[in-house]
Amino acid sequence: MTQHRSATCLCGQVRVAVRGEPLRVGICHCANCHKESGSAFTFYAVWPVAQFEHSGQTTESRGQHFCPRCGSPMFSVDEHEAEIKLGSLSDVPSGLKPSYELWVKRREPWLQPIDGAVQYEEDRP
Ligand SMILES: [Zn+2]
Ligand SMILES: [Zn+2]
Repeated sequence: MTQHRSATCLCGQVRVAVRGEPLRVGICHCANCHKESGSAFTFYAVWPVAQFEHSGQTTESRGQHFCPRCGSPMFSVDEHEAEIKLGSLSDVPSGLKPSYELWVKRREPWLQPIDGAVQYEEDRP
């Protein structure tokens, strides 16, 4: 059976649905992710764009789509792939585990490397 996952922004105006398993799951400690999320890292996954749908109005800034009402960061999308912020998933725990970490040189020292996840000092080469 195909896995379906849904996500919403904090106020519920923006809805996202993805089908099937993601291509990859990661977390990122880069400066942009810190600022955009207001937190120490982002947790996200990437699906083929054909397995991604969204509804509701979004505002785009630097490629990221946000809810214009509540400000939640939701996704970025190009012609091939859609990257979803997994903090917005409706069903948690998600069953998704990061297979890699980006910008680990900026990771807060009280966070441990994720067991089994490939560690990249900066972006993926
Ligand atoms: Zn919202
Ligand atoms: Zn980042």
